[in-house]
Amino acid sequence: MFIFFIMRGRLRFVCNTAILFNSLATVLNTATMKSLKARKHELSSAGHQLEILDNNGTTFPNFADKLNSLGSFPLKPQSIEILQINLGKMCNQVCEHCHVDAGPDRKEIMTRETMHDCLAAIRNCNTIHTVDLTGGAPEMNPLFTWFANEISKLGKKIIVRSNLTILVSNKKYSLLPELFKEHKITVTASLPCYTADNTDKQRGKGVFQDSIKALKILNEIGYGQPETGLELNLVYNPIGAHLPPSQEKLQTDYKKILLQNYGVVFNNLYTITNIPISRYLEFLLASGKYESYMQTLVDSFNPAAINGLMCKNTVSVSWNGKLYDCDFNQMLELPVNTGISHIKNFNNEVFKQRDIVVKQHCFACTAGAGSSCQGALV
Ligand code: SF4
Ligand code: SF4
Repeated sequence: MFIFFIMRGRLRFVCNTAILFNSLATVLNTATMKSLKARKHELSSAGHQLEILDNNGTTFPNFADKLNSLGSFPLKPQSIEILQINLGKMCNQVCEHCHVDAGPDRKEIMTRETMHDCLAAIRNCNTIHTVDLTGGAPEMNPLFTWFANEISKLGKKIIVRSNLTILVSNKKYSLLPELFKEHKITVTASLPCYTADNTDKQRGKGVFQDSIKALKILNEIGYGQPETGLELNLVYNPIGAHLPPSQEKLQTDYKKILLQNYGVVFNNLYTITNIPISRYLEFLLASGKYESYMQTLVDSFNPAAINGLMCKNTVSVSWNGKLYDCDFNQMLELPVNTGISHIKNFNNEVFKQRDIVVKQHCFACTAGAGSSCQGALV
């Protein structure tokens, strides 16, 4: 009887905890139906986010000091190999963790003129081998097809960061998989879990089923299948306030479960650490987990990750043509430390010499196995 009561007590605790977290998730989900910007939330200001991150620099070690103690400050680029272009903040989803603060209510979008500036920069910089298209949902830019065709003419590898659901959201996007195939575009797609519950919790109701639908369409035309050369990668990022597990092990689990349960295949799984900015920062603060998450990032600092940091071989272009060291610096409005602020004036030689701008959020890139848009670093 005693044991029974203890078990009942435990059970009650678990249920209450679940209720607490579900309520929190519901509150956040309801709140995040709109972007921070549309809600006029104070965290929609990059300056306010930086203030939060910087103030805690007094309790947490400073990222720049950490690099300095290892002889890696200032952080320098190796070579400019990847141009990551944000085609706009518009998205058909409003994910809880989104570092872009994207959503249907965001109207910022790259114009043809800025795309021409990007094409000129790609043409003039022979070390750039890859153009990485991101957003928002990059496919929602009405010039997406034209732009992909133009980049393809330059003979560069193209990556599209797709949320998958956009491909099945409206008839006008249904031809995109064939466009991807025509240009052998690598599809790198978010899927934070192989279960519907967990995926929908982070990304919205019904997202998992629509993602599976889109993955099947991609598989049917050869994506993720052996020897087609059509690369399909999935991206995992933690649903809670913790670091990703082992990329290798998780990939094995994803491959097994997605094949068994849905007949879906893919090439690689990339694990990405959530950066404590924007809507993920909102989640951390609302759930009281900000301090403990930052502490985890700081405690897990891995010097071996420094060499592979994506800011060392990537330059990020925002929807309005402004230049940043990475997508995260772009969202925090931390411009590149050069006299050149716009893609129309891009100069490879100047960019190779620059000092990369680092702040406290950078601890997320060096924690554990490290993190980048191409997954773990070590
Ligand atoms: S799909 Fe991507 S860009 Fe869109 S809201 Fe979700 S995380 Fe943000
Ligand atoms: S956040 Fe950006 S600048 Fe900082 S370490 Fe990561 S990639 Fe580099």
